[in-house]
Order: sequence, then structure tokens, then C-alpha cells
Amino acid sequence: MAHRSLEAVDIPRAEAPEIRSCPLCEGDDSRLFLPITVSRGPVAGSFELRQCTACGLVFVEPRLADPLLATLYDQDFYFSTGWPYRGFAEWVMREIQRTRQRRIQRYVPSGGLLDIGCGGGRFVRHMAGQGWRATGIDFSAAALTLAQSQDSTARFLYGSLFDHDFEPGSVDLVTLWQVLEHIGEPREFLGRCHELMRPGGVFVAAVPNIEGLSARLTGERWWGLDVPRHLVHYSPRTLCRGLEEAGFTVIKVNHLSLQYDPYALLHSSLDWVFTRRHFLSDLAKQQVAEVPPLECAYNVAALAVLGPALAPLCLVTSAAASCFGCGGFIEVFARREGRGRVPAIAH
Ligand SMILES: [Zn+2]
Repeated sequence: MAHRSLEAVDIPRAEAPEIRSCPLCEGDDSRLFLPITVSRGPVAGSFELRQCTACGLVFVEPRLADPLLATLYDQDFYFSTGWPYRGFAEWVMREIQRTRQRRIQRYVPSGGLLDIGCGGGRFVRHMAGQGWRATGIDFSAAALTLAQSQDSTARFLYGSLFDHDFEPGSVDLVTLWQVLEHIGEPREFLGRCHELMRPGGVFVAAVPNIEGLSARLTGERWWGLDVPRHLVHYSPRTLCRGLEEAGFTVIKVNHLSLQYDPYALLHSSLDWVFTRRHFLSDLAKQQVAEVPPLECAYNVAALAVLGPALAPLCLVTSAAASCFGCGGFIEVFARREGRGRVPAIAH
């Protein structure tokens, strides 16, 4: 994604040279899952995706230091500047919020919402408009500026979940839309979410699926990997395990994401022929000014030739994968039961 405003810097690697233990089960044994080379931008270098041999969780090594990671969430990460189909994109985004609301209200009809990693706050504003007591939280100042610039009864907070004193048992709904994979310590995080929620409350997380068909087909080019920003890569099995260990009961796993899956598969497939990764999203954001003209012309021509053929194929493939339970993205609903155990967590 966009790193153009950042200077190249030395990457502060993990403090300890040895490989970390699994962030989900704390197992010490892991195997190489996929080597990844990031060729451009301020975090260019070699990374490894490693898989815990005990629980199957995949996580990135080295995990960058938080201050450096924070610089990778600039304004361009959250919204496209100059997107040419803005009216249509707005309509699509509104429909996505409505779909999310419908799915959620099957399980929890109203109450207090906490959307973690709210970005520009679109979902929070939508739910506030539907009568929810809606709060969004994000550690990106750029995102919060964007969220707070819109007129809404929603409340927006800066920082992480651990920076605020939410009353235990007070939240009816916690949501994370493509956010949980950015959180490097899921045990502590999920435990904290469980603690904040009232019995009967619902937790929803949408994440890329490392075991989905799109990831298997496109390997290291898969858009959902987003190395090194995605710290943890879930499958349905590992995400459900993490939730259950935090005290939740998983009630539903959706494999259909029309918002992300077809586009991610198209994006990752086209990266095979493009001269540089992420050309499609860079082009959509009008961030290709630094690409030499000939190279740019080749990539645009490749897109013009292959795009119309691949787009419907990716749509059909994604839909078929979701039907067979191996969608590129998953959405997991879990409930905090009335007498669920409250996990012991260190604050
Ligand atoms: Zn593990």
C-alpha cells in the first residue's frame, strides 16, 4: 500500500534474535510457512510467515516495533484519494454497512457498540444512525481526523483498547472489520474484549483466511497477507480456538465477502503479470506517478487485456470457494455466554 510519504528507515527488528513463541497458544515450536520479500517502501526486506506446530496459527517474523508499524497507517491506508468512481463506491459502502447491520441484529438487536480499529468510522456512524450507542476506537490519528470530521452522534476515541477504562460487562457488541490480523497479541486482546462485554453480548471479527482458496491459489502474492502489517494470519480453526479460549462461544462462521474476496483474488492474480506488486490498487489510488512511463504502459495494457477476462472468473471462484467453506475472507460471530469464564489476563 502507500508508503510514498515515508522515508526509508532501518527496520528495528525483533529485540531478541530468536523466533517468538506463538502469540495464540504460546507454543515454542514453529515451521516456515512462507518466505516473503517486500521489495519497496520503508519496510523493504525479508520476512517469514511461520506456522505454530501446536495450534496452526500463522504469524509474521520479524514482528516490527510498534512505532514503525504505526507509520504504515497513514491517511492513504484508510481511504482512496481521487477514486474515480466515488458515487458508486459510496453506494457500495452504504450497502456493506447495511448488510453488516442485518447480520448482527439477528443476534443482538440494539445497545452499545464498540468498533475497534474503526478507521474512517463509516460503520460506527451507520450504527449510531440506527439508534446504537456507538463508539469507534483507532490508533491512527489520520483515521480519527477523518472519522470526527463527519456529523454524527457516534463517539470516537484515539488509542488502543488498553488505553481506555471501559466498564467491564458494559458492551453489547464488539466488532473488528479486517482488524484482528493487525493485533500481535490476540490472547490478551480477546480476553480484554470478553471482559468488557455483557453476558449475551456478541463479538464479530472479519479477517483474511490463510487457508482459503484465494490464499492457496496466489501464494506469496495474496493481497490478504499484507506483510508486515498483518501480524497474525487466521484460519477458521485458529480464530475459533482463540475465541473459545478467551471464553466465547462461536455461533457462526461466514465465508462470503463480496467486499474483499473477488477484488483480492483479482489483485493477487494480476500481480503475476505486473512488473510491481499492488499496481492495481496503486492505480486505483492514482499513486503511479513514480512508475516509469514504459513500465506503467505495460502494466496498464496487461490490466486492459487480462482484467475483463479475470474479473468474472475471480467472482465465480470466490463465490464457489465460499460455498465450499474455504472463502478468502471469513466473518466469525461469537457470544459471551452468561456464565462464561473470565480469563485471567495481565493488564
Ligand atoms: Zn500456537
